[in-house]
Amino acid sequence: MKYAASRLDPVKPSASAWVSQAAKAAIAAGEDVIDLGLGEPDFDTPPHIIEAAHRAALNGETRYPPTNGTVVLRQAVVDKLARENALTYGLDEVIVSNGAKQVLFNAMMATLEPQDEVLLCAPYFGQYKDIVLILGGTPVELICPATDGFILKPDALRAAITPKTRWIMLNLPSNPAGAVYSDDDLRALGQVLDDHPDVLILSDEIYEHILFDGRSFLSFAAANAQLKDRTLTVNGVSKAYAMTGWRIGYGAGTAPLIAAMTKVQSQICSGACAIAQAAAAAALNGPQDEVRRFNAAFEARRNLVVDHVARIDGLTLDPPQGAFYALIGCAALIGATTPDGTTLANDADVTAYFLKAAGIAAVPGSAYGLEPFFRISTAASEAVLSTAMTRLASAVAALQLKETS
Ligand code: PMP
Repeated sequence: MKYAASRLDPVKPSASAWVSQAAKAAIAAGEDVIDLGLGEPDFDTPPHIIEAAHRAALNGETRYPPTNGTVVLRQAVVDKLARENALTYGLDEVIVSNGAKQVLFNAMMATLEPQDEVLLCAPYFGQYKDIVLILGGTPVELICPATDGFILKPDALRAAITPKTRWIMLNLPSNPAGAVYSDDDLRALGQVLDDHPDVLILSDEIYEHILFDGRSFLSFAAANAQLKDRTLTVNGVSKAYAMTGWRIGYGAGTAPLIAAMTKVQSQICSGACAIAQAAAAAALNGPQDEVRRFNAAFEARRNLVVDHVARIDGLTLDPPQGAFYALIGCAALIGATTPDGTTLANDADVTAYFLKAAGIAAVPGSAYGLEPFFRISTAASEAVLSTAMTRLASAVAALQLKETS
């Protein structure tokens, strides 16, 4: 008996969730494993946000909320986008969903026709590809190599657009590479898109507040005002406010697109948890010092990881410019032999070796469409990261690297 519909056949389970589950199982079995698989802040949600949720529950905000989000939260999003991103939206141009993930799903469900093409910048956040596959669209992977700073170049975008192209997905800063587009980079992509009026742009800005070396953030729609009506700006509170479990994300775009996404959402879940929405409004409207404190901590951890990797022969890493991941190059390890005589054929073998030999759970680059790399999450304390990097260094040193001629 086959239970799953064939539309699920091409979809693989999320690699980072799988790696994390394997790590948790190993830890439960008493093994000494450090889980650097899952991307989630290790901080607690700031107390004023939790108090807002408590108050909302006591005040009776316990009924179905409006499908597209409470007025209070949508107004907080409108104000946030005006204040921080110089973007003007009305209340009917914002939707609140169960995490940015659901915003992404709603958008694709609302707009994709079978075989429509969606352009992905590899390395990309795995969900982008999987939702497109679930919905019968065609993901088109554009390789953005480390030598280009993992960003999409205008010529590559121009060459990839066809009459079937429906969306280009951008992620600023990016998971997994921590890549950041300069203002000019964003405008140059915008100029290419000016010539293709049927292409929609999804700008996933969920890591906007995790940005290093004094950089300031520019939204795609602010860099390209002429494309604002074709851009869906996606964001959420998970990463900036350490609120992954509250499941609140939001999207801002033109009213007809938001209405179509609301129609989808009304059939899936009747909106997001009312109490979590009250908490998210407190996060957006309240003091932002915790956001800055989290960012400073992520930057110090980024520095620690970059310093360690620089001392490990065989691994490469240009400093990530944002987000809380390091996508580490491991080309020199491919073809290497482990102490028990196994050959590492690809980056999945490399991460399997790290789990076994070093007790480090990391995600292979192949999960993000770019090999040979592995991603570690830097959302762990400096002490944990130091131990993890020392163990990685020993595991790499124990390999017999392939002779290069
Ligand atoms: N976009 C990107 C690039 C992400 O990395 C994540 C979380 N891993 C999400 C969206 C989803 O975030 P959430 O659903 O928690 O808002």
